Amino acid sequence: MELYRGKSKIILQSNDENTVKIRFTDNATAFNGEKCETLPGKGTACAAISNLIFRYLEENGIETHLLEVLDDTHVTAKKAEIVGVEVIVRNAATGSFVKKYGVAEGKEFNPPVLEFCVKSDELGDPLVNESQIIALSLATKDELSEMERQALYINNLLCELFAKVKIRLVDFKLEFGRYENRLILCDEISPDSCRLWDVKTGEKLDKDRFRQSLGDLISGYSEVLKRLLDAQI
Ligand code: C5P
Repeated sequence: MELYRGKSKIILQSNDENTVKIRFTDNATAFNGEKCETLPGKGTACAAISNLIFRYLEENGIETHLLEVLDDTHVTAKKAEIVGVEVIVRNAATGSFVKKYGVAEGKEFNPPVLEFCVKSDELGDPLVNESQIIALSLATKDELSEMERQALYINNLLCELFAKVKIRLVDFKLEFGRYENRLILCDEISPDSCRLWDVKTGEKLDKDRFRQSLGDLISGYSEVLKRLLDAQI
């Protein structure tokens, strides 16, 4: 039974009521679904990268929803109640940040910038601050500080990981879920949800290839996967 159909993943109820089955599809979307294409191999690449990253985060003390990898495009995951706030971490300026605030592309942020957005396709995922989140009952103050703490720790772990494979982690988006009495990392971490630039050439290896029609998306994603596998992470 299908529980939820996202832009690039389908969530299915599994036999156990506390778990779900997630299918990574070949759908690529950008600009809130305005641009949409089927790119064969994308689901496999995102699943492989995200599973590898979630395992790495688990080994370093971050609890994720990932339970079992079933095949190239399916996993089982803990059934969590997704928090209606997306967390964005930025180590450098690009994308919507450059558009909104007019700073130079690639300007480094240290400490990183942390943003919260409402998870809503209808509203276009608007940026929200802490008091708006509380007023809208999207998350509590404690949940916000917990998401912030985990996001910054995940950023450190991911920067370290990608530096090993000569990739600059420019920014990324996280989603958390309520599970039992704690917040766990959900959704995915892949080139669909991160900006990843080759350290040497600056080449974009992420979904901006699709958003900006920069060339073949799959070859960028495959390059990220190959480097992570070669580094035996
Ligand atoms: O578009 P923007 O610059 O705000 O995106 C910041 C980061 O969050 C990018 O890595 C982008 O891929 C990711 N993102 C996402 N899903 C969204 C919005 C942003 O994965 N709905």
